[in-house]
Amino acid sequence: MNLNAKLAILADAAKYDASCASSGGQRRNSVGAAGLGSNEGMGICHSYAPDGRCISLLKILLTNFCQYDCLYCVNRASSNVPRARFSVDEVVRLTLDFYRRNCIEGLFLSSGIIRSPDYTMEQVVEVARVLREDHDFRGYIHLKTIPDAAPELLQRAGRYADRLSINIELPTEQSLARLAPEKDGARIKRAMARLRVHIDDAKAAAREARDTPARSLPGAKPVRAAPQPFAAAGQSTQMIVGGDDTSDAGILQASAQLYGAYRLKRVYYSAFSPIPDASAALPLKPPPLVREHRLYQADWLMRHYGFEAREIAPQGDGMLSLEVDPKLAWALAHAERFPVDLNRAPRELLLRVPGLGVKAVDRMLLARRVRRLRADDLKRLHVPLAKVLPFVVLADHRPARAADPRQFAAAAKAPAQAALF
Ligand code: SF4
Repeated sequence: MNLNAKLAILADAAKYDASCASSGGQRRNSVGAAGLGSNEGMGICHSYAPDGRCISLLKILLTNFCQYDCLYCVNRASSNVPRARFSVDEVVRLTLDFYRRNCIEGLFLSSGIIRSPDYTMEQVVEVARVLREDHDFRGYIHLKTIPDAAPELLQRAGRYADRLSINIELPTEQSLARLAPEKDGARIKRAMARLRVHIDDAKAAAREARDTPARSLPGAKPVRAAPQPFAAAGQSTQMIVGGDDTSDAGILQASAQLYGAYRLKRVYYSAFSPIPDASAALPLKPPPLVREHRLYQADWLMRHYGFEAREIAPQGDGMLSLEVDPKLAWALAHAERFPVDLNRAPRELLLRVPGLGVKAVDRMLLARRVRRLRADDLKRLHVPLAKVLPFVVLADHRPARAADPRQFAAAAKAPAQAALF
């Protein structure tokens, strides 16, 4: 099988991993037509670097052969899909070729499990080693790691990769046992804990090296030994949404536990998508995509706005509203906390006002040191006035009555794509 055919299979097989998904672009291709380039090219996806830059990654599997039979996965052993396998050299060559042609800034490499977890992980690590040591590759590398592999291999992976991820796959151990019986939730978490220790150690070593003055022999230039890096962009994971019957409350509790216990950079939520010849244990239909979106919004509230999982996840069926975003839903359910006086309230409370983002809140805190905030100040901050005003008191504004949930639900029912031109 030639390299292009392998690339078609193994880039397509990697698309189910949402950790660095890109979407929303218009499809363009110059093959057989005028112009130059294509954005349909296999295996290129966008991701965000630790400094916030959006970067393009070559996103592929080393192989889609797999000896495990996770029911939700298109690459499971019993799946009837075309199979392919790259050699280490082929992945290295592809990465360097794409990089030199300026198509990518890094590599996202995952793999099905062949022979054994250790053997597969060795191959994945070898790709990163050859790129870094033999070719002095300075681009971004994200490796999907196999929790069942030996701890030494995970440790080696972290020396070469910018980011490591281990997929938790499903929010509960019971669902994992039912849908991915070869996987072990406790082993996955143990592997995450090991990565956390290595990441923390590397950060501490970097801090110590920075804070300790470099010493040298008299007359020689002081030289500081660089500390060994370890996955400087941290670790992340992915959770499938809608593949089992866990509620949004259960999913957010699981995420909060992962953020707290293993200091993950991100939990990615991937709406379950039905696969060919699917098992009867799986739902027939995917969940509404907006559910995935609401979970990302709720996750953002936990990481940046001081909300706890149990506050966002509703009582009862535990499902987030599909009609209004989780922050607005929380505000509507806690009318007793509003209106908030924007000229007096502490930062934590300002962050809970629907429509106010972190930047707007910080700018308001600066502005109110020198004057009392008025409605016009909010306009200048470009905050959505219709959403904010029912919840706040300003020097020249006080809402006539409590915010009415129906007004927001009606507005949210008719979403429209903003025009670019
Ligand atoms: S181990 Fe990974 S690739 Fe293999 S079936 Fe499970 S999810 Fe798919």
